[in-house]
Parts: sequence; structure tokens; C-alpha cells
Amino acid sequence: MIENFKETLNYDIQQEKMKLIDAHVHLSDAGYAGHIDELIADAKVAGVVALVTNSMDLQTCQNDLKLAEKYPDLVYPALGIHPWNVNVLKENELERTVDLIQRRKNLVKAIGEIGLDHKYETLWEKQMMVFDKMLRLAEALDLPVIIHSRGTTDKIVAMLPSYRLKRVLLHWFSHSISTLYRAMDDGYLITEGPSATYSKDIREIIEKVPLTHFLTETDGPVTYWKRPYNGQLTKPSFIRNVVEAVAEIKKMQADDVAQQIAENFEVFFGIKLN
Ligand SMILES: [Zn+2]
Repeated sequence: MIENFKETLNYDIQQEKMKLIDAHVHLSDAGYAGHIDELIADAKVAGVVALVTNSMDLQTCQNDLKLAEKYPDLVYPALGIHPWNVNVLKENELERTVDLIQRRKNLVKAIGEIGLDHKYETLWEKQMMVFDKMLRLAEALDLPVIIHSRGTTDKIVAMLPSYRLKRVLLHWFSHSISTLYRAMDDGYLITEGPSATYSKDIREIIEKVPLTHFLTETDGPVTYWKRPYNGQLTKPSFIRNVVEAVAEIKKMQADDVAQQIAENFEVFFGIKLN
């Protein structure tokens, strides 16, 4: 009897637990080296049920695949070449990355993090060449794309319709509201993270974005200095703060926000959550 009661109780607790999503994190970043097991354990306790680990170059692609194999049904890899790395690509690194993604396409859930960054304007042609290659790969493999667009969101939103991409995610969206509406019209999703608790601009974007076009992220490892983080290195468990901030902004229950985000995740990535 007691055993049965315990089982029922556990079941109820499970049911009540919010399913949280970190749709953009960099688990292979050096900042997390040696701490992955504890990060994952901490994330699970917080209710995180999916982490999309985004690569930056060939080496992080290889490592993200290993993490996806080590933590099945929890860690999902988004592979690609980040615009910050276009100038330090080794010989054949781009070709080898494309080849790796093609060979491991059954495990790969998105092409990311890819994009264009205005701070590296001297490398514009090279950035464009790599970005185009990544977008063509996403087309060919019918995969979603996760896009970095610092200072380039307008340009990217204008150029993407010339590709046959069905699923586009603009990560840490921080551009104008008019660009947000254009991206929404094209069916794109955006992610926001821990800055949702303190940034006026990000909170305005969250207020305006339809929740059906929204996912949560941490983009870790990043150090957030403002409250409530106070200089801590981001952990996926911070997603709980993000969901609570979104609920407050949208005047909704946190449970309902989390549920909609979990549904968005399943549809966008084509992944069934446990
Ligand atoms: Zn990122």
C-alpha cells in the first residue's frame, strides 16, 4: 500500500513539474569544461528536459555529437560554423564540417550557430560565403537553422526568403519591433534568455512576440552581472528564471508559458519530449 502511495505521489510531482527548454546553449565551450555532468544534473533538477547545444567550429561539432550520444533524449546537437570563427578556420575545416554534418544527419537536429556579425565587417565576404554554405546545407538536409544576427538582423531577414528554409530561429533577438513583426510574418521563431529578467529592450520584445513564436535559451556560458545572477556563469537551470520573467511580462501563469514553449520546441525541432 505504502509503495503504491509513493508511486502515485511521485507521479503527481512529475506531472506538476514544468518542462523547461534551453534551446540555445554551448555545452562544448571551454567555459564549461570539466563541469558538464554537474550542469546536466543541475538542469534536470530544475526541470530542463531538452538542451540544444550549438557548435562554433569543427571541434565543437565533434564534441557536441559526443554529448548528444552521452545524454540521449536530453542533449540535441545544432552543428555549424559560427561567424566569429570564419577567420580562424583551418584548411578544409569548412568542407570537413559539412561532411561531418552530412554523415551524422540522423543525430543532428539543426544547423547552428550560424549567421553574420557586423563587428567583423572586414570579413564580410568570408562570413557570407560560410553562412551561405551553412544555409544550403540546411536546405539540403531539411534542418532548422539557429541564427546569430548581431547588427545584421535586418539584412538576414531580408535575405532568408531566397532560401528554401522552413524553420528559422533568430537567437537572442534584439532588433527593432518592426523587424520582429517581419520575422513573425515569415513564420520565424526567436529566443530570449536570462536578460529577460532585467533588460528593458528584451522585455519589450517578449511583450510583443506571440508566445507561439518563442523559445527560451541561456546562450551559456555567459556571465550575467545584473540581478538575480550577480556575476554567476550561466547554467541551463537559469531557464526557470527566464520562464518566470516571461510569465510576468505576459501576465500568464509560468506553467502555461512553459507548456507552450515545450510545444513550440517539439514542432520546431521535430523532437518528441519525454
Ligand atoms: Zn550562442
